[in-house]
Amino acid sequence: MSAMKWWGWGHEGVEFTHEDKPDLAPFIERVLGIRIGPRTEAPVRFEDLPVPEPNLPDELASTLRAAVGDEYVSVNRLDRVVHARGKSLRDLILQRRGDLRRVPDVVVRPGAEDEVSAVMQAALEADAVLIPFGGGSSISGSLEAPADETRPVISVDLGRLDRVLEIDAASRLARVQAGVPGPQLEKQLEARGYVLGHFPDSFPHSTLGGWIATRSSGMQSDRYGDIADLTKGLRMVTPPGMLVARPIPATSTGPSVRQMVLGSEGRLGIITEATVEVRRLPEKRVILGYLFPTFAAGLAAMRAIAESECSVSVTRVSDAHETQFSFATRKRPTVLDKLQSRALRTYLQRRVGYDVEHMALSFIGFEGSEAHVARERKAVGRIVRAHNGLCIGSGPGALYDQKKFDTPYIRDFLLDRGVAGDVSETAMPWSRLQPVYDAVIAAAERAFADLGVQGYIMCHLSHSYHAGACLYFTFAFPPSPGGDLLAEYDVVKSVIQQTFVDNGATLSHHHAVGTEHARWLGQEISEPGVQMLKALFEGIDPGRHLNPGKIV
Ligand SMILES: Cc1cc2nc3c(=O)[nH]c(=O)nc-3n(C[C@H](O)[C@H](O)[C@H](O)COP(=O)(O)OP(=O)(O)OC[C@H]3O[C@@H](n4cnc5c(N)ncnc54)[C@H](O)[C@@H]3O)c2cc1C
Repeated sequence: MSAMKWWGWGHEGVEFTHEDKPDLAPFIERVLGIRIGPRTEAPVRFEDLPVPEPNLPDELASTLRAAVGDEYVSVNRLDRVVHARGKSLRDLILQRRGDLRRVPDVVVRPGAEDEVSAVMQAALEADAVLIPFGGGSSISGSLEAPADETRPVISVDLGRLDRVLEIDAASRLARVQAGVPGPQLEKQLEARGYVLGHFPDSFPHSTLGGWIATRSSGMQSDRYGDIADLTKGLRMVTPPGMLVARPIPATSTGPSVRQMVLGSEGRLGIITEATVEVRRLPEKRVILGYLFPTFAAGLAAMRAIAESECSVSVTRVSDAHETQFSFATRKRPTVLDKLQSRALRTYLQRRVGYDVEHMALSFIGFEGSEAHVARERKAVGRIVRAHNGLCIGSGPGALYDQKKFDTPYIRDFLLDRGVAGDVSETAMPWSRLQPVYDAVIAAAERAFADLGVQGYIMCHLSHSYHAGACLYFTFAFPPSPGGDLLAEYDVVKSVIQQTFVDNGATLSHHHAVGTEHARWLGQEISEPGVQMLKALFEGIDPGRHLNPGKIV
């Protein structure tokens, strides 16, 4: 996998455009009170970045070269800058401003587990810091070295560990190297008739090791489970040696070491491989679009589906604001599209009694044998109708499926126009869904008003569980006149995060802790919980060589 832009999402040359979406610019102009024209802001030029000279003692450099080979030890400026941070909004703003802070001194690319061990050994002996790097898609500040770190900082890029090693067909378990990015992993599995089914929005630019280290969740988790469910075993290089959690379906051997590694964000070691649960490729896959009269009706339908015997792959429903945004991102419609959508609006208003300003767009995915899919569609259809919902066919679902990985580019499009756009996601029991939603929307609106900015916040339910669901909020605003975008972003983001914990929801359902969410961790897991984590990190890594400053 080639590296992403140093200042934004995805590869150079790939960007989001509004030009093929005629309703989008007017929509953004209306809701944010700005003019969408050509870009008004650009990142500083790479040549002008103040990249510090690497702090890499000769002896450490030669041990690293001996460990992985000369060509896999890089002090190249671009390489170091790309590995300095992930892709949180803060990361993007600071990178674009040229505010680099603590750039890693060297990037190493081990090609085998014993090379990872040799790099670990070299770092411990030289009193250096190691930061594992998967795809670099972290959204919670998990990759940046502390600004005041004086020791050499080594970014360990796992990208060469990218193979499926073996598949145990009887157990449907695959042994996979940790640096494999999503697309390469699914391609290798598909060639052998299997699928992992883990599809985060960051799929093209994130890796198995990164997913495990952040407790990631994919959009089809309703069927496949989160990465914490899919990971059955793993191997990790740690300061005291090789940690092995064997792939056992269930075990009663004390607190789960496997679970301790899940979400450890590089603080316990470098994951080299994992054994993950895989499934046979489904015979049929379809995502259907639905409309509900209100978000509340859509949420109630999702809860009823979770409570029923249905097993679907995707449950997603957007609130009215996000539904309007989705409609605004439609590409240039054909005459037939226009007629159909006008006819649909009339039908919704006159025959079904919807107020189109409040309706909620939903997607529900089905996978499995033809017979299973047909049965599930019927059963879900009954639940949807009971909540006054309406199926709008597979066209919108197919479109959503195609463009789902394009949305991360929108943040750069907005930043190019001086606008902050970001996300905050959480999970809670079903009984808390509506109160959390109401509290977050009210808190964000208050924060926009206090700052004197015209902001927009929207939300969708993105993952359902037996006992609750994930709500995913997206917000955007231009800064106040003379205001600092980053400082004002901090205000809005903090208000939303605080509202989560105050209302019985989690700090993060799948974006991890990093540095962005660390200050709320005590409220999330209680002080003894924080002490346990500290003791764990200090016990395994007393010299604080492993990604210091993250989580706690
Ligand atoms: C626009 C956008 C959309 C996103 N959508 C989703 C989503 O839908 N679902 C979701 O779950 N997340 C999402 N994320 C967050 C991010 O993609 C996940 O956290 C992802 O799991 C990170 O994987 P990565 O390979 O990029 O890891 P990195 O960003 O490279 O690293 C993340 C953390 O994991 C550690 N790490 C990485 N590899 C290893 C390893 N082999 N051993 C030990 N530690 C390691 C790093 O040190 C760091 O602490 C999104 C992020 C962005 C910016």
